[in-house]
Amino acid sequence: MFDTVLIANRGEIALRIQRACRGLAIKTVVVHSEADRDASYVAQADQALCIGPAASKQSYLDQSAILFAAEVSGAQAIHPGYGFLSENAGFAERVERAGLVFVGPSAACIRTMGDKVAAKRAMRQAGVPCVPGPDEGLPEDAAAIQALAREVGYPVIVKAAGGGGGRGMRVVHDEHALLDAMALTREEALHAFGNPEVYIEKFLLHPRHVEIQVLADSHGNAVWLGSRDCSLQRRHQKVIEEAPAPGIDEALIAEVGERCAAACRQIGYCGVGTFEFLYERGAFYFIEMNTRLQVEHPVTEMTTGIDIVQQQLRVARGERLAFGQADVRCHGHAIECRVNAEHPVTFAPSPGQITGWQVPGGFGVRVDSHASAGYRVPPYYDSMIAKLIVHGSTRRDALDRMRVALAEMRVEGISTNLQLHREILADEGFANGGVDIHHLERWLQQRSAA
Ligand code: ADP
Repeated sequence: MFDTVLIANRGEIALRIQRACRGLAIKTVVVHSEADRDASYVAQADQALCIGPAASKQSYLDQSAILFAAEVSGAQAIHPGYGFLSENAGFAERVERAGLVFVGPSAACIRTMGDKVAAKRAMRQAGVPCVPGPDEGLPEDAAAIQALAREVGYPVIVKAAGGGGGRGMRVVHDEHALLDAMALTREEALHAFGNPEVYIEKFLLHPRHVEIQVLADSHGNAVWLGSRDCSLQRRHQKVIEEAPAPGIDEALIAEVGERCAAACRQIGYCGVGTFEFLYERGAFYFIEMNTRLQVEHPVTEMTTGIDIVQQQLRVARGERLAFGQADVRCHGHAIECRVNAEHPVTFAPSPGQITGWQVPGGFGVRVDSHASAGYRVPPYYDSMIAKLIVHGSTRRDALDRMRVALAEMRVEGISTNLQLHREILADEGFANGGVDIHHLERWLQQRSAA
């Protein structure tokens, strides 16, 4: 049991976690960098501690500073949010060793899922469908590598076992490019991730990105909370997400969801998590598991009515899940637009002071944001300043509601991608549902050519 949580993050998610804590009568300690000193969520916390200068390495990624802040503030648990230290097994271990609760799965689970080859092996063993390809790293022998790739069938993708953030991947279309691609990826992987292991799998040409949210307690109970579609991406960054994934057979989603929940029970997973899949021609292929809260969790909250962050805190406190799978029902449709401080054409970050700020409201509209008029968006971190989320009884209702909400929202003083969102919401392809992960890039190319 704990009654004080240290929030090792910033921005909208630091505020989101604070709200969840307050709802459970848990006290909050917010740690922040010098650049975030004046943020309103910092002032709202029960305690705030500055842990270093603006650079993340010296503040939000400084494990010792965060552990020291926990010690002096009396926090008994640390919530890592997303990004920063949220999937760092070494940090989770240090938190555990300091006798504190890491709000997330065990360090061992984070470590297994952080190794994509190990994760794939574990998931295949648990009956979760994976992308075709060996669930072992590539051998050294050239002939053996070529034989493996031939067996998978071209095109294949060479991936780093320790990769992340869309880096350490290379698509190979035929055999003569294979060995070079492998050597390059291995080299890159060693430098970027400190792990030279690479593996191959089938490269899918037109997949959608569909994911399953799970929630598990420390008593062996696990449920899945429906699907999300995050196919609308630019440079592997999600731009719009929705729940549920449109146009996919419900029985198939339920079958995959059950397997994800079963996999959680099998590996002793505790906390919230996301199984990411590529979905193509009616089939699901596991690519990775995120062992943390995700940016897009609100669309699942809106459709299930479950406060995912409160549930995450409850299971971290050792509570049993108070509901079972049969109690989880998804209603209607939810969509989230990530509002970024960025140039509308070049996508370059656009930090600076917000001079005008008007957020939409009304039935079925939710805005998760730490920003306001007068807030200065710092140049040092991710450019997301708000998440605009709507819920409707159908996907069409949700789309209509999002169009109205986007028309109402005004941000002045900095550039944002609001106009981009308005244009995407007017795109017939997106409105029809079920676009693949290349749709947005294709659409952007056509738009700039026109
Ligand atoms: P990361 O951890 O770096 O995000 P992922 O394994 O999740 O890496 O892959 C990131 C993205 O790369 C996917 O969302 C997808 O767009 C693309 N990708 C990965 N594996 C494949 C594959 N086998 N076929 C097609 N695209 C893939």
